[in-house]
Amino acid sequence: MLSAVCSCNAPKTAPAIPSDKAVEAKVESVLKKMTLEEKAGQLVQLNISTLEDETREAIDPAKLDKIIGQYKVGSILNVMHDAAHTLEETAAMVRQIQEKSMEAIGIPCIYGLDMIHGASYISEGSLYPQEINLAATFNRTFARQMGRAMAYETRASQVPWVFSPVMDLGRDPRWPRLWESFGEDPYLQAEMAREETIALQGEDPNHIDQEHVAVSIKHFMGYGVPATGKDRTPAYIAENDLREKFFAPFLACFRAGALTAMVNSASINGIPTHANALLLSGWVKEQLNWDGMLVTDWADIDNLYVRDHVAADKKEAVALGINAGIDMIMDPYDPECCTAIIELVKEGKISEARLNDAVRRVLRLKVRLGLFENPLWEHEYSEFASEQFARESYAAALESEVLLKNNGILPLPEHKKIFVTGPNANSLRALNGGWSYTWQGNADNYVPQYNTILEALQARFPYVTYEPGVVYNETPMAWQYEDASGIARAVAVARKADVIVACVGENSYCETPGNDDDLNLSAGQKKLVKELAGLGKPIVLILNEGRPRLIGDIEPLAAAVVDVMLPSNYGGDALAALLSGDENFSGKLPFTYSKHTAALHTYDYKVSEHRETMEGSYNYDAIMDVQWPFGHGLSYTSYAYTNFKVAADTFKNGDVLKVSVDVTNTGKRAGKESVLLYSSDLVASLIPDVKRLRGFEKVALEPGETKTVTFELPASELAFVGADGRWRLEAGEFRISCGGLGQLVRCTETYIWDTPNR
Ligand code: BGC
Repeated sequence: MLSAVCSCNAPKTAPAIPSDKAVEAKVESVLKKMTLEEKAGQLVQLNISTLEDETREAIDPAKLDKIIGQYKVGSILNVMHDAAHTLEETAAMVRQIQEKSMEAIGIPCIYGLDMIHGASYISEGSLYPQEINLAATFNRTFARQMGRAMAYETRASQVPWVFSPVMDLGRDPRWPRLWESFGEDPYLQAEMAREETIALQGEDPNHIDQEHVAVSIKHFMGYGVPATGKDRTPAYIAENDLREKFFAPFLACFRAGALTAMVNSASINGIPTHANALLLSGWVKEQLNWDGMLVTDWADIDNLYVRDHVAADKKEAVALGINAGIDMIMDPYDPECCTAIIELVKEGKISEARLNDAVRRVLRLKVRLGLFENPLWEHEYSEFASEQFARESYAAALESEVLLKNNGILPLPEHKKIFVTGPNANSLRALNGGWSYTWQGNADNYVPQYNTILEALQARFPYVTYEPGVVYNETPMAWQYEDASGIARAVAVARKADVIVACVGENSYCETPGNDDDLNLSAGQKKLVKELAGLGKPIVLILNEGRPRLIGDIEPLAAAVVDVMLPSNYGGDALAALLSGDENFSGKLPFTYSKHTAALHTYDYKVSEHRETMEGSYNYDAIMDVQWPFGHGLSYTSYAYTNFKVAADTFKNGDVLKVSVDVTNTGKRAGKESVLLYSSDLVASLIPDVKRLRGFEKVALEPGETKTVTFELPASELAFVGADGRWRLEAGEFRISCGGLGQLVRCTETYIWDTPNR
């Protein structure tokens, strides 16, 4: 029932992006000179393969004439031959297209790339840990740093637009894109994505300078919870959850000036998102008064008829999408899409008004990026691939690797004989994951100069032996297949060691090819660990994976467990520094690590779902039994929380709750602690979530040192979306908690919003 808060009732809010007179004047002056053919072309984005010659390494001038000259296509995406190119090669390719566009249409082309964790498609660019790792740092600095470097290095290649940041809530561990997001929690996701958005675009979305790029926040929305767990399949989401949780990161980024958004490839409650006028035109364009541009995801207009059967043919699908609010169609192979738009306008199936509105949005983006004055630019990019970016990437990796278990074996003493094993031990591809130099990820072929886990351990410890036991099939689309025939060899070599470091997990994958039928860690890898455990030597289990693979049966065999997730090119070095104790762990899980295949949880479950949370809960068998909870992460020191205080016992909407807590490092090592603030609504008109993250701060503490951490929590943050689709803060008791301490506070009056968003 997606209509509870109808867009037509929505009061006009202040524009999400402030309107700029000069920008608008430029848009109008261009628009009024455009022909229908030129307008149609602006609404279409094609893949670079439509311009490639037979070598797939260069542009074919005849194709350029056709696509840009004849069809007047306004945007191109992707890399030639699905492979990273050098900065110079990328810039030369864009230059050639841009020169043609200016000569043939007089309107700059906008080039877009999937820069996902740094300049991931420039071969000598800087890569950072994937978003899931940045989330584990609970440190906003890293989202900012990655955004800035990604913008700078992308812009250095003459590309002004990235399809980033990703803010799908990773709430289903089966979904193969979980690692592209900042995890399962809406607040953490919103905070990190907003930081990244501002860092990518700069402070003024009307004037993006030559060190910044436009973002495409994605994938709007509800993409991360397909009912089947498989990519691009239908989701079923209650409307209040959609507004309250799934929309939250998008809202934060729209309000921070996000210039474009890419639409969820799949569907919600039976409506393909690309045809969902209520969400696209209603929630975003009308309710937020947002004048940015909505781009489809890959071939998703075609999916409206080929896959979803809500349109009979291409033309009907184009009309459906554009009338729902799509402004640019990522087609990606068929320039005839332009012809379909022209015909639909002539037939009156797309109105002139909708056409002009979409074209304005495309032109506005190009004006805001300064592409009309500078379709190409000369600017000094001396920081490209700088030491500074490398240091930031390493620091982020250090803070992102999560120590999940340690019975005292870590840190590893220098003199120990270490046996390293597992398919992830000697692989940069696995450390980086997808969207790394190629779509499916192929770092080993591009940047052999970085250290794998094995190489980093060899550099740090004197006695290291290696035998993988299990190896991956390196074919990108067959990432699940592995060869476990080396297990006996591994066990034989391990006999001489003091300690075993078993590096297991997943090989890289991306999107639909990452679908898998079993969330368990592979049988071969489990067998490797079980057979090594038979030697009776301590095992340090290193998990290098894009989603939490279930390890319930082998976890008890490990003396220590570290989840490095996808820490990128410095992830091996960071791990060696952490395992040796040169550095201390400070990462915490940004998702729930489930234990059982039929019990996949998020931390913000309903109080009635699990026994442990509520006396007398109805379902007595439903014990919350996870491997590790959201927010779990150990270190080599310990922290004590004291003096937790919420300044006032009562509050109402409009108030700000002032919260403070003292955190002391009670151990012998310096460390960093992520302090997480939660709230629980004790009684509400809808079954409340057991708890919700409301704040986080990371503090560095020397041994014995105490710091007071403060939070200012607006009372409105404690509201939820009720059954009627309206935000409501209800009178009654709330528990505010942090580090195991809590205080009851009371909201004195119910407040219900008459606007769709708080
Ligand atoms: C993905 C998007 C990506 C787009 C362009 C799609 O298949 O879902 O995340 O931005 O391709 O490469």
